[in-house]
Amino acid sequence: MTQQSKGTALITGASTGIGSIYAERLARRGYDLVLVARNRERLNALASRITSETQRNVEVIPADLSNAADLVNVERQLREDASISLLVNNAGIGTHTSLMESDVERMAEMISLNVTALTRLTYAAVPGFIARQQGAVINISSIAGLAPELLNGVYGGSKAYVTAFSQSLHKELADKGIKIQAVLPGATATDFWQIGGLPVENLDPGIVMSAHDLVDGALQDFDNDVLISIPSLHDLHAFQHYEASRQALFSQLSSNQLAPRYNAK
Ligand code: NAP
Repeated sequence: MTQQSKGTALITGASTGIGSIYAERLARRGYDLVLVARNRERLNALASRITSETQRNVEVIPADLSNAADLVNVERQLREDASISLLVNNAGIGTHTSLMESDVERMAEMISLNVTALTRLTYAAVPGFIARQQGAVINISSIAGLAPELLNGVYGGSKAYVTAFSQSLHKELADKGIKIQAVLPGATATDFWQIGGLPVENLDPGIVMSAHDLVDGALQDFDNDVLISIPSLHDLHAFQHYEASRQALFSQLSSNQLAPRYNAK
């Protein structure tokens, strides 16, 4: 029996890895899909498999989200298709190469995909969600946003942006019925590592999660309205403590008085 549609989920970076697992899982949950990535063949193959397994409608949009014209096309789809109820901003690239050994053009490309495209697509989708009083955005961030010293700093910085943007969106949109989630995967077994120059086989297997487990954990958190989902973190209290400390700083961060530790003249 086919499930009643929950609307359409538009997923970026859906041709492989974490995005392709979101596509499968969301179709099984009753979403129709719009799948976005560059590789048309892989998108088409995934779309046919999901359609035959779930009977959901699956559309593909081949697009390079670092390319302004392609990005505008996906933004248009988000503005005009009122069936879209969920945006999964998943497309992203990374590297373990240190900052000073990295080509700045590659760093700029990373920012344009991980930050600019994610921001523009969110701006395209959310006004419709507000008008329809429902909708959700899942932003795939990274634990590297919390620990920028671990990998390349532009990557970590781009993911810190994704988490901060999601926290701010949540604050602004929570009372409008719009759900926001930032997912912070730890190391996950996908092509991401090979593309970034370090095959996943080179990592300690004890820190690498399967993309299936990652997505299933994050979706369980989504169901429970968890804003920041870190499926690989076992000690949830450690993060809750960190968040409480961060939030407790808010009221102390601005003052008209120089802090007493300075020798004011
Ligand atoms: P992946 O297997 O390399 O998949 C990346 C996806 O993004 C692919 O579908 C790729 O498809 C698409 N993509 C890449 N560049 C694109 C572009 N310019 N325009 C449109 N689509 C593009 O990586 P993944 O591990 O699933 O990564 C998904 C997300 O998880 C990323 O945001 C990543 O930063 C985050 N993440 C991953 C890990 C990890 O350890 N794997 C950890 C933390 C966070 P095409 O090549 O067909 O375009």
